[in-house]
Amino acid sequence: MIKAITGTKDILPGDIQRWKYLENIVENVFAAFNYKEIRTPVFEETALFARGIGEETDIVGKEMYTFTDRSETSVTLKPEMTASVVRAYVEHSLGIKQPLNKLYYISPMFRQERPQAGRFRQFHQFGAEALGSDSPLIDAEMIQIAYDIFNRLGLKDISIKINSLGVPESRENYKKVLREYLADKKENLSEDSRVRFEKNILRIFDSKVESDRLIMKDAPLLIDYLDEESKTDFEIVKQALTRANIPFEIDPKLVRGLDYYSKTTFEVISGKVGSQSALCGGGRYDLLVEQLGGKPSPGMGFAAGIERILLACENENSFSLPDEKIDLYITRLDKELSTEVYDIASYFRRENISVEIDYLDRSVKAQMREANKFNSRFVLFVGGEEFIIGALNLKNMADGSQQSFDKNNLEEIKKILRK
Ligand code: AMP
Repeated sequence: MIKAITGTKDILPGDIQRWKYLENIVENVFAAFNYKEIRTPVFEETALFARGIGEETDIVGKEMYTFTDRSETSVTLKPEMTASVVRAYVEHSLGIKQPLNKLYYISPMFRQERPQAGRFRQFHQFGAEALGSDSPLIDAEMIQIAYDIFNRLGLKDISIKINSLGVPESRENYKKVLREYLADKKENLSEDSRVRFEKNILRIFDSKVESDRLIMKDAPLLIDYLDEESKTDFEIVKQALTRANIPFEIDPKLVRGLDYYSKTTFEVISGKVGSQSALCGGGRYDLLVEQLGGKPSPGMGFAAGIERILLACENENSFSLPDEKIDLYITRLDKELSTEVYDIASYFRRENISVEIDYLDRSVKAQMREANKFNSRFVLFVGGEEFIIGALNLKNMADGSQQSFDKNNLEEIKKILRK
């Protein structure tokens, strides 16, 4: 038997209600902040991600689903959305039509990671990108959007960490300081961190290896080497969050994996999902648009992992949904009345009333079981002596009461079902 590929997951009908509930909240919150949805293709030219995310990152270095298609083009299934959104922004000159573009998405992503709890190879993210403004209030807005969504989902055990990475010049200065600090400790770093020392030194802060952590414990911190502009912006972000009653911590070691970030970065962590605890991450990327061939324009964004968020919701029991219902089950009392039943169902279905009928020649008892299973609000009986004299019986399943209707007057029944 063929099974789903390792690291991918079916979202079955029983799970969908929770997904839709989340998606609905996401859409409502983005609407409140006037973000417009964008959808981009599932695959792009590989060069886009190589250039947009950075060759030295784990994503580009080891996790991309890359293949050569039949016309010898190297394509990649999107591992994240920022590069694609920026590509679309540049390609369609969105910045000319509108000086500030506030965009959001809900989309599958693909990374060939080692599958484990909270880590999949196809997973889903919602997120946003605001292109065209360098205002730190946009940074605060992004963090607030993420927070408001988590809040509406009922999540309590979350913490927001923020940091500033400064502008490239101050970061380069700081990297020198960090390099000096690590110069005589380099030999004691893990192999991965030694590679990072050469290629992306900030990311040594991300190392999970205990000996690396010990070495980094006393390392100089970027936040102490920030330029004035980044410092002022960071202050504005913090104040805006405080005014919006958003709890946050400053985490000077939050460096994030991607090369293109500058100034504000943030992450939202859940205490309820185990070791893969980041629900969402984001930050400012003022240089990316230019790097991808566009006119320089500042950007800010975040991405949140839906599977992990839903797991956190489940583990916190943060919301519960009512059982799904249908409006009407039509129970056929005589086998030969299938076409009549079908036609009555059609009438109501076209009136936007949800209806189920039997397609399996089931007994009346079995049909009633189905009606209960689907939580039908009403059952309409078609057949028997009633039907011969031209009547249909409608049963209200909540109180058991029954009412008789002329079978040619479905309009009357509709009024009851609509209530
Ligand atoms: P990133 O794009 O790496 O910053 O990830 C943003 C969010 O997406 C993370 O905080 C996770 O919630 C989620 N995420 C990233 N990678 C995976 C994965 N392999 N499986 C499930 N969720 C993921």
